[in-house]
Amino acid sequence: MTREDDRHGELRKGVRDLCAAFPPEYFREVDARRGYPDAFVDALTKAGWLAALIPAEYGGSGLGVTEASIIMEEINRAGGNAGACHGQMYNMGTLLRHGSAEQKARYLPAIARGELRLQSMGVTEPTAGTDTTAIRTTAQRRGDRYVVNGQKVWISRVQHSDLMILLARTTPAGEARKRSEGLSIFLVDLREAIGHGMEVRPIANMVNHETNELFFDGLEIPAENLIGEEGRGFRYILDGLNAERAIIAAECIGDGYWFIDKVTRYARERVVFGRPIGQNQGVQFPIAEAHIELEAANLMRFEACRRFDAGEPCGAQANMAKYLAAKASWEAANACLQFHGGFGFAADYDVERKFRETRLYQVAPISTNLILAYVAEHVLGLPRSY
Ligand SMILES: Cc1cc2nc3c(=O)[nH]c(=O)nc-3n(C[C@H](O)[C@H](O)[C@H](O)COP(=O)(O)OP(=O)(O)OC[C@H]3O[C@@H](n4cnc5c(N)ncnc54)[C@H](O)[C@@H]3O)c2cc1C
Repeated sequence: MTREDDRHGELRKGVRDLCAAFPPEYFREVDARRGYPDAFVDALTKAGWLAALIPAEYGGSGLGVTEASIIMEEINRAGGNAGACHGQMYNMGTLLRHGSAEQKARYLPAIARGELRLQSMGVTEPTAGTDTTAIRTTAQRRGDRYVVNGQKVWISRVQHSDLMILLARTTPAGEARKRSEGLSIFLVDLREAIGHGMEVRPIANMVNHETNELFFDGLEIPAENLIGEEGRGFRYILDGLNAERAIIAAECIGDGYWFIDKVTRYARERVVFGRPIGQNQGVQFPIAEAHIELEAANLMRFEACRRFDAGEPCGAQANMAKYLAAKASWEAANACLQFHGGFGFAADYDVERKFRETRLYQVAPISTNLILAYVAEHVLGLPRSY
């Protein structure tokens, strides 16, 4: 338990009480059938937790990314997988900070009431990969509409969302002053888009994570769905990505505590060679090490959240928090699997499922190598390597 447990005790208790009705067995069953945790996400929505960031004037609870991250952390800490619904938290930040008054009035109350879901963000493309400014999807202005052509990959929760934030090039890279300019973001109404210029092809993957290839062929978006100013979308999306990194760091922290609780309990009870396996230093030390790293990562996560909520620059902290937390949760996962022996591989123990789930965060939403390259360049002033 960290000091943060006391500071946010009531919030944590509320989410824990809700999660108690959706134990690991629930997520195990959903994972086995590669389904979506509809009942869980409905309950979370009805309780208002997914509207945490929406200001009170629009019907939400007006909380910050700190509190949003705690909600997501508690889901993973209880043995669930917040990946099914975390999109609404970090996408909300983009709409709140850069959306117009009309856009907020139009969408936020309905999202707060649970009638609309804002769970998807379409950035990654097959050819550009991590090199986001090299994306090829274009949005061309034609009168009162933009016409979108191109392709995206790994776009999550599209089948469980009504709205998607889409990044597309509005000025060709060669004509923009910088490659990071000439990109814009749009709110796409998926209910109108799918089948009318946008096709969705699901990708079967290692985790039970609904993610897709998207194909755009003349998709028309009303011009009023442009978020912020045309050409400045890359800057807006980076802001959202900082919130995403801080929130996913919190999910990794939740995973890490789950693994450590699970393995310490098991190591106390499992007797081999006439004594608990947890009495061996070879077993204790990797668990203790993961715990120490998790606690340190947690401090960086709260610093990233604090800065984001205070409107201070937080790129370095959000990236470092995501790096540390994803690494610590992965080490905790490895120790948990290892010391469960053969039982770690049995689906009934939930370890192998959580192991797969937490592994994702070494790669997405940004790979560890790219975080190291960011810190080298932007924090340490070394020459750009990419
Ligand atoms: C399950 C899942 C869900 C996702 N959901 C979304 C989503 O909802 N929306 C969205 O937009 N994207 C999503 N993504 C995409 C995700 O953000 C990307 O997969 C991730 O950013 C890495 O991009 P890439 O896969 O193209 O890897 P690449 O860019 O091809 O890189 C591959 C690997 O090469 C290494 N590498 C690349 N460049 C460098 C360099 N310069 N220096 C050192 N190492 C380097 C890294 O280790 C990297 O992991 C999702 C991905 C997955 C797997």
